[in-house]
Amino acid sequence: MVFYKTEEEIELIRQSALILSKAHGEIALLIKEGVSTATLDKRAEEFINDNGAVPSFKNYNGFPYSLCISVNSTVVHGMPGNYILNDGDVISVDAGVYYKGFHSDCAYTHAVGEVSEEVAQLLTVTKESLYRGIDKAVVGSRIGDVGFAIQQYAESFGYGVVRELVGHGIGKSLHESPEVPNYGKRGQGLRLQDGLVLAIEPMINLGTRYIVQEDDGWTIRTRDNKPSAHFEHTVVIRKDKAEVLTTFDYIDKVKNQ
Ligand code: MG
Repeated sequence: MVFYKTEEEIELIRQSALILSKAHGEIALLIKEGVSTATLDKRAEEFINDNGAVPSFKNYNGFPYSLCISVNSTVVHGMPGNYILNDGDVISVDAGVYYKGFHSDCAYTHAVGEVSEEVAQLLTVTKESLYRGIDKAVVGSRIGDVGFAIQQYAESFGYGVVRELVGHGIGKSLHESPEVPNYGKRGQGLRLQDGLVLAIEPMINLGTRYIVQEDDGWTIRTRDNKPSAHFEHTVVIRKDKAEVLTTFDYIDKVKNQ
């Protein structure tokens, strides 16, 4: 069942998304060589709790952390821990916030220090593919139009578009209908209507699109062990242009310091 949100509900998701976006800024402040991924997780949980909210991922289907932290060839659902960030790593930070009954979801892939030109381009293209998908997420479009835009752009660089994991509706539940694949055919799938809130989240691999799951039951890795990138926004469908409820502005502010 697809839930279309009222303006009151969207306002609560907007507030949830603001806390989440600021949390991403706080995490960005800490990302550098020598820092453990557990440190980032701890800071995120503290910041989210201090703002009267709850990390959506913690205890979700038994996931024990507030963040999914996915380094290099890990695509998504990586677990924070003792891993120490190195110069040249790429690290996807995925977080969710639950506030006043509503979830928001947002991910960003950071470069730690200097990364190769090849990997820097993967990050740039993956972020751009997200915005190309969002451009199609308007009243009257279909889910397939969003996926097509992402896939076409990413594949034009020879990248692998992960298919097993997809974006999703979001609201009272972290994952709602419909699924939002990062691939698709134009003109196919659900027709988008005003008030539908979606988490759009391309997961793009430098090499093969194929993935494997680690024995921990969570960590998803590229099959060829090449790096992967992941960017995500929570958006609400509107006429002509989606409203992007999460923002990377707080991350950009840190990066431009
Ligand atoms: Mg998501």
